[in-house]
Amino acid sequence: MRVLIDADKCQGHLRCMGLAPEVFDCDDLGYGVVILTGPVPAGSEQLMRRCAANCPEQAISIR
Ligand code: SF4
Repeated sequence: MRVLIDADKCQGHLRCMGLAPEVFDCDDLGYGVVILTGPVPAGSEQLMRRCAANCPEQAISIR
């Protein structure tokens, strides 16, 4: 599983960072970015689905 943020949709609510700071951070402009460089660690899949479901802009996708 990999997690991505669509920068065109992201509005910088940072709910993602609040839920999973080990995976999401914010850039210098306050928009969400994925800091995880590889696949989502085993056991974090459910949390990633929750992050995607809680993004108000539907900017987080899971592949
Ligand atoms: S919750 Fe969604 S819109 Fe907000 S910073 Fe995270 S990815 Fe961007």
